[in-house]
Amino acid sequence: MHPDIAEILHRTFGYSSLRGSQPAVIDRIMAGRDTLAVMPTGAGKSLCYQLPALARQGTGLVISPLIALMHDQVRSAEAVGIRAAALTSADENRDETLRRFRSGELDLLYAAPERASGEGFRRLLTEVRLSLIAIDEAHCVSEWGHDFRPDYRLLRPLLDSFPDVPRLALTATADNATRRDILTQLGIPEDGLIVAGFDRPNIRYSISPRDGVPRQIADLVTATPGPGIVYAPTRDATERLALSIGQATGRPARAYHAGLDAPIRARNQAAFVASEDMVMVATVAFGMGIDKPDVRFVAHAGLPKSIESYYQETGRAGRDGEPSVAHLFWGAEDFSRARKRVEELEESRRAGERQRLNAMAGLVESAGCRRAILLRHFGETPPERCGNCDNCLAPPKTVDATEIARKFLSAAFRTEMRFGVTHLADVLAGKDNDKIRGFGHHKLSVFGIADEEEMRLVKPVARALLARDALRADDYGGLSFGPGAKPILKGEETVALVLPPKRERRRKDGTGKDYPDDPLFDALRARRREIANELGVPPYVIFHDATLREMAATRPYDLRGLAEISGVGTRKLKEYGQAFLDVLNGRD
Ligand code: ADP
Ligand code: ZN
Repeated sequence: MHPDIAEILHRTFGYSSLRGSQPAVIDRIMAGRDTLAVMPTGAGKSLCYQLPALARQGTGLVISPLIALMHDQVRSAEAVGIRAAALTSADENRDETLRRFRSGELDLLYAAPERASGEGFRRLLTEVRLSLIAIDEAHCVSEWGHDFRPDYRLLRPLLDSFPDVPRLALTATADNATRRDILTQLGIPEDGLIVAGFDRPNIRYSISPRDGVPRQIADLVTATPGPGIVYAPTRDATERLALSIGQATGRPARAYHAGLDAPIRARNQAAFVASEDMVMVATVAFGMGIDKPDVRFVAHAGLPKSIESYYQETGRAGRDGEPSVAHLFWGAEDFSRARKRVEELEESRRAGERQRLNAMAGLVESAGCRRAILLRHFGETPPERCGNCDNCLAPPKTVDATEIARKFLSAAFRTEMRFGVTHLADVLAGKDNDKIRGFGHHKLSVFGIADEEEMRLVKPVARALLARDALRADDYGGLSFGPGAKPILKGEETVALVLPPKRERRRKDGTGKDYPDDPLFDALRARRREIANELGVPPYVIFHDATLREMAATRPYDLRGLAEISGVGTRKLKEYGQAFLDVLNGRD
């Protein structure tokens, strides 16, 4: 490590070493070479430009797509003593910022692409010395990416007019095509691509079929203290779930969706960012601008669009590296609905979208390691088992359900493919009711051909058939064949069913928690809350949980001891050290 970097890392951030790909990225920027860093959320992208900006001469310019994101970054940078400012329409102190920038009093200046690409801004940049130009959320430059922002395209001339200033593009989500595109669009050489591993080992992945989702989510919330996000498919669902979660768990719960007035949205978002226990029930509109490190769980009440979006959404959990949970609840309807939407698309897009859905079906239906499936999807070769997902922790039973699947498909076929799950199950079970008699279904060859054991599998089988597009549901629930039906009927494909293990009773004695209760840690958190309130910043800006936990475990008794703890840099030691020491020494 460059000696200046090591020194700044320790003095300013209170960290002892760089992690993962950070050294590779920082080395390149220190050598003045253009770089694209693809690093998962929580890997520490900010440090990759903050450290070189501090170590090199001049001011670092950071292009960022969202004002909220910039303000978050500025606040955290200032908390460790970095001289940072944002130049946006929402900042009243623009004149002051310009003055500081011109006189070299800023380590970092944040601006949006719209502003940065303007001619006036380019001229402004010529007046000062730049240490680097960082382009955050760089996938926005690509039409292949999922958040294309045309203004990002206008940055190229700006970058090119400062050929000696190293450019650093950063993103958490870019598949191969997007990476190539970013390199081309931003003029970064091929060998400047640095891709970190995708794994988020501190996130525990769980996936279950929906079965009374408000209760399922309330259970998850109760079992998981700390802030969390619940993604719901519709605006209505966010409001209903927020209400039921609040009532069932007593936790503060709010809704967030595009239909709320902007001030309410902003207020709910700010409350969430500052909170240590709030549940935000939101549509996927929520999240991109949020850099909250202590999100302890992300739940999905319905199927995400693709594995990419699932990974990005769940990635908002546990940026601070602490144990976190991602739990997806899915139903067959999700697949029916999504598949119908795909068929309405223009021809050229259907194949790709079908593939995305099939990948999701493979993930939710698998009895294997979820993490392994996710990482393989992103081109990695992970170990067979991770030990930190539902299927690794409690391997589910699988049964061969090919026979009952065939019977179910036959029942759909014989009844002219217009009845739903319940009726088809009644036919297979040989029930004697009016509907069956009315349609004459008691005379069919499939009437009563399933035994009791098979009948127990009917619902999960129907779900599996819908997920893999062997069956499709119309608007009234009537089931007809999809392309996946034939291979099953012809005996070319089998249907293996995953039987979820019986839900474990939640234990009352607190075992199974990630950390045992610790009054000293609680007291330190209370102190952090006081300071945060006083300063009007979220608690994590003061110290992260991991830092407080290390304090509680090692109990330093003076400032020198406190300075040894990870996350305690010079600035924070001076500002808050004594306040926390008082708690540690029982003086308060
Ligand atoms: P990203 O933007 O990649 O999601 P951040 O830059 O927000 O990640 O960093 C995630 C968290 O990890 C931050 O709280 C940061 O302070 C912490 N962090 C980053 N690098 C290190 C390091 N080398 N040692 C300890 N903590 C680190
Ligand atoms: Zn696993």
